[in-house]
Amino acid sequence: MSEPVIKKVLIVGGTHGNESTGVFLINKWRQFPKSLQRASFQVDTLLANPKAIAANVRYLDKDLNRCFSQAVLQDETLIGHEIERAHQLVDQLGGKGACQYDLIIDLHTSTANMGVNLVLTKHDAFHHSMMGYMSTQRDDVVVTSEAEMIPDHHFLCALAERNVIVEVGPVAQGLLHHETIEKTEQATYQLLDFVERYNAQQLPELPESITVFEYTGKISFPRNENNEPLGIVHKDIQYRDFSLLNTGDPIFLMQDGSVITYRDKPTYISFVNEAAYYDQGFAFCTLDKKLIPLCK
Ligand SMILES: [Zn+2]
Repeated sequence: MSEPVIKKVLIVGGTHGNESTGVFLINKWRQFPKSLQRASFQVDTLLANPKAIAANVRYLDKDLNRCFSQAVLQDETLIGHEIERAHQLVDQLGGKGACQYDLIIDLHTSTANMGVNLVLTKHDAFHHSMMGYMSTQRDDVVVTSEAEMIPDHHFLCALAERNVIVEVGPVAQGLLHHETIEKTEQATYQLLDFVERYNAQQLPELPESITVFEYTGKISFPRNENNEPLGIVHKDIQYRDFSLLNTGDPIFLMQDGSVITYRDKPTYISFVNEAAYYDQGFAFCTLDKKLIPLCK
C-alpha cells in the first residue's frame, strides 16, 4: 500500500476565546481521544489562545485569526498578546511551507445563522473533494470562500497546506449549546472520515460541482459621529443568512422608527448581525453564489 498523503492532522479550538464550542470539544477529546483516532493518520489537538479562553473574550489585543500572513508576522512594529502568540504557534507548528501538520481543522462559531459553514481558502482537488464529500454527508453544509483567494492567508489554519474552518451557528458567544456542539463534533468526525478515505484513495462518488458563496463586501451599521449605532438589523433579515436580499428589502430599523431599505443590486447575505463584527461596525456581508466544477 502506498504512503498516506495525510499523516498528521491538527484540530484547533479557541482561536477566538469566546467561541466555547471548539474549546469544549478539544477538552473533551483530550479526555476521550478515541473518537478522533483513524488508522492512517495521527490527530493532535490545540487550544490556540488560552488567555482569551480564560477571559472569555474573542481576543485580548488583536484577532489571532488575522495574524498569520507574512506581512503581519514579519512586521516588527506590531506588539500585543496575539502577535506574541502567533509567533509562538509558528515556532510550535512550523510556518507556512514548513508546517508539521498536513491538515489543520479550526473550529469556530458564529452568532449568525451560518449552518455548518466550511471556509474554503484554496481551489484545488483536495479542498474541492473535501467540500464535495461533506455536502454529500450533511444537508446543512454551506461552503464560503474569499472572492479572491489570499495567497498568503492570515488564518491560523492556513499555516498548513490543507486547511478548513468549521463555523457553526447561530449560537451566543461563550455559550455551550447542545445542538451546536453536536453539529461541530459530527462535522469534525466526517472530515476525519474524509481524510481516511482520501488516504486510502477510496472516496465515494462525488458531485460534479459544488455551490460556493464568494464574499463580495460588507455593509456597515448606520452610525453617528461618535461611532454609536443609530439603528439595528431589521427583523426581516435576522437569521436569513445565505438567502437573497432584494433591492428594496428592509435592512435597518432606525431609532426614529424609520426603516432603511437595501438600495443596491440583489445579493446573498451572511454573518447577519454577527456579534463578533460589532467592533468593526459591520452589520452583514454580501456574497455571490456560484456553482464551481470540482478540480480533479
Ligand atoms: Zn471564530
